Amino acid sequence: MCSTERSTWRSDWARGAAGLMGAIAAAVTSRDIRCMWYDNILETIGDTPLVRVNRLAAHVPGTVLAKLEYFNPGGSVKDRIGLAMIEAAVEAGDLQPGGTIIEGTSGNTGVGLALAAIARGYKCVFTTTDKQSPEKIAILRALGARVVVCPNDVEPEDPRSYYQVARQLARETANSVYLNQYDNPANPAAHVRSTGPELWEQTDGRITHLFVGAGTGGTISGCAAYLKERNPDVQVIGVDPYGSVYYKYFHTGEFDDDEIYPYVTEGVGEDILAGNMDWDLIDDYVRVTDRESMLMTRRLAEEEGFFVGGSCGMAMAGALQWMEAHGDQLDDNSVSVVIMPDGGYRSLGKTYNDAWMREQGFLSDE
Ligand code: PMP
Repeated sequence: MCSTERSTWRSDWARGAAGLMGAIAAAVTSRDIRCMWYDNILETIGDTPLVRVNRLAAHVPGTVLAKLEYFNPGGSVKDRIGLAMIEAAVEAGDLQPGGTIIEGTSGNTGVGLALAAIARGYKCVFTTTDKQSPEKIAILRALGARVVVCPNDVEPEDPRSYYQVARQLARETANSVYLNQYDNPANPAAHVRSTGPELWEQTDGRITHLFVGAGTGGTISGCAAYLKERNPDVQVIGVDPYGSVYYKYFHTGEFDDDEIYPYVTEGVGEDILAGNMDWDLIDDYVRVTDRESMLMTRRLAEEEGFFVGGSCGMAMAGALQWMEAHGDQLDDNSVSVVIMPDGGYRSLGKTYNDAWMREQGFLSDE
């Protein structure tokens, strides 16, 4: 409450009960008082805050902002695509009332889909890998989904992989649809409709650089498509974990199997080329080690108060790496945004756990 408002209340009080009752009556009949509720949880998705990165980005030119997607009700950027993919399946006639949604997910898409499925009356079956944090799997089950955990360390074409198990379940389950977020155009379209316009409006059209860690490519491609339509000069930089094929593919056009090896950062990077990666809209690509990603995630919490997940540390580490190397392309008017896909609760057992960090060799023993 501002000081003028406070002094008005004080003088009303001083005038006695009549003054106070008059003030209440005026407030109750005021047109400014509106109901402030949502009809269902899905309406609370989006309009996440953009917050300045103060300490960690103090040494790079311009303004650096974090788009905090953990403010979504399911706790991640992927809430934005759940309903969009379900509606597209219904429109295409692939999903009938009461049907089953099947998807392979590192966890967050499953949460977004589960929220939409609850609101619209569908069932969910998700496949995921044994690399994902147990918290994510527990959340999916809490939201009523059936979860099938598959081995991470197998080829995508292997019948045991979470991609193939999802396909098989869709073949076996009546009135079901496999949404395939990797190739489903409703995924980037949701970001063209929501995340992109939010970034544009929240920066008043001043955004110059966007940094995104990509998995399916929905976020990076959808945001890039919208922002470049508004201003073709906006630079979009992808951030990849070591162990993913994207970085080398972007720089050389080669899909190199030797680039594929296990890494711990969740939800980003791939061992396939997702159809939703629109390579023409990406201007540069950097990559970050697991160690850098995890340590930066902890610094985001400790130094900025952003309690975020591991792919956020990766995106921020990659953004700072790029900005430090390309200072000549930045100035005081630069407005750089880093997408922070999810929150820290799902990483309490790993990134924020000293014992796990030591086991991984990310923290020294002292
Ligand atoms: N970070 C996390 C934690 C994620 O779960 C995902 C989704 N896989 C991403 C980043 C990448 O988003 P997208 O799939 O839109 O590329």
